[in-house]
Amino acid sequence: MTVAVLALQGAFLEHEKMLEKLGADWFEIRQPRDLDRPFDGLILPGGESTTMGKLLRDLDLYEPLRAKIQGGLPVYGTCAGLILLAETVDGGVPCFATMDIAVKRNAYGRQLGSFYTEADFQGLGKIPMTFIRAPYIAAAGPKAQVLAEVDGHIVAARQGNQLVTAFHPELSDDLSVHQYFLNML
Ligand code: GLN
Repeated sequence: MTVAVLALQGAFLEHEKMLEKLGADWFEIRQPRDLDRPFDGLILPGGESTTMGKLLRDLDLYEPLRAKIQGGLPVYGTCAGLILLAETVDGGVPCFATMDIAVKRNAYGRQLGSFYTEADFQGLGKIPMTFIRAPYIAAAGPKAQVLAEVDGHIVAARQGNQLVTAFHPELSDDLSVHQYFLNML
């Protein structure tokens, strides 16, 4: 099982450490020729969604990755990665737009830009959740399944091959969300 980690910008190293701990093989995607290697899943890390979206297009990674996601490649987007997958983005522009969710960028405002909590994740129980200038999912369409909510807002969802969290499990010691993703591969 090999996971490709988009490594253009943001918190990709932390995901690689989680994959390492779970015994999964991984490599980084930085340019189109990296896509020649076979892989079973893709992680879109947190960072800055606008910058990542621009880099994806500038580096000619946008089209091939979008085709793979639409073709059923398992993908996990955290935070900015979630924004990249959303069909509708309040406060930004859609990128891959492959997931039937509407997200609000920087949804928690300046006061509560970053925070930690613990909440239930469907099938995993209570898990740690670290939010950093996070979005939340303002609306999930019928194709998307809600997996976690915090204060009445959706913070994790799945639609077939696509998994998203507004929080960063890679910044905790809890491997359960990454294991959940590996089970999708
Ligand atoms: N605020 C960032 C964005 O809108 C996301 C923050 C994150 O990935 N931690 O892209």
